[in-house]
Amino acid sequence: MSNYEKVRTRMIQEQLLPRGITDPAVLKAIEQTPRHLFIQGALHAQAYGDFPLPIGHGQTISQPYVVALMTQLLELKGHEKILEIGTGCGYQSAILSALCDKVYTVERIKPLLAKTRRIFDRLHKFNIVSKIDDGTEGWPEHAPFDAIIVTAAGPQVPQPLIDQLADPGIMVLPVGETSDDQTLTMVRKKDGEVTITPIENVRFVKLVGTHGWTPQ
Ligand code: SAH
Repeated sequence: MSNYEKVRTRMIQEQLLPRGITDPAVLKAIEQTPRHLFIQGALHAQAYGDFPLPIGHGQTISQPYVVALMTQLLELKGHEKILEIGTGCGYQSAILSALCDKVYTVERIKPLLAKTRRIFDRLHKFNIVSKIDDGTEGWPEHAPFDAIIVTAAGPQVPQPLIDQLADPGIMVLPVGETSDDQTLTMVRKKDGEVTITPIENVRFVKLVGTHGWTPQ
């Protein structure tokens, strides 16, 4: 077992299992995904710590527990088509790609996605399709999506994403009026009804776009 594999096993035992991450498929995907490769070399030693890390351009990769929780909430079985808003360094996309059929991911910062695409190629993540755009508009050409995940926080759930969620379907996203007061939120569509359930307090970077925050 390599050193990083050992560190990942310890991360699962210390950070994920005690906090209720129990979906075996999610745990396996996390165990097999080299989180450090998505992060700049100078931060490799911290890659498996219980905190978010900077990924450049003022953005961050979420703490491992938050990635695991959001993924588990999607209740993936393996056949799904998923929309992700906020590709960032691509770690969350890589976890999802191991658990579903296809990931469509949208990022608004061009140089960030250019770097991330090279990592997807290097790790042979061929079921991830990405584009530069305002993800608050979704990706209508490929809708509906069985699951949607948003990894940046806006003031409300973007309506285009609700419209592009399949029935049945699950969306998980942080929502909050201020950066200190965000709630991880689960939106479930079933039999034509949409139910919204608050999960727990979180802290994410801003979702910037037509149905998010206005760019400064
Ligand atoms: N899932 C990412 C988290 C990245 S942080 C990871 O594992 O690294 C959130 C990302 O959302 C940032 O890269 C930010 O640029 C992006 N973002 C913010 N608003 C967006 C929008 N409207 N459309 C697409 N991406 C957006």
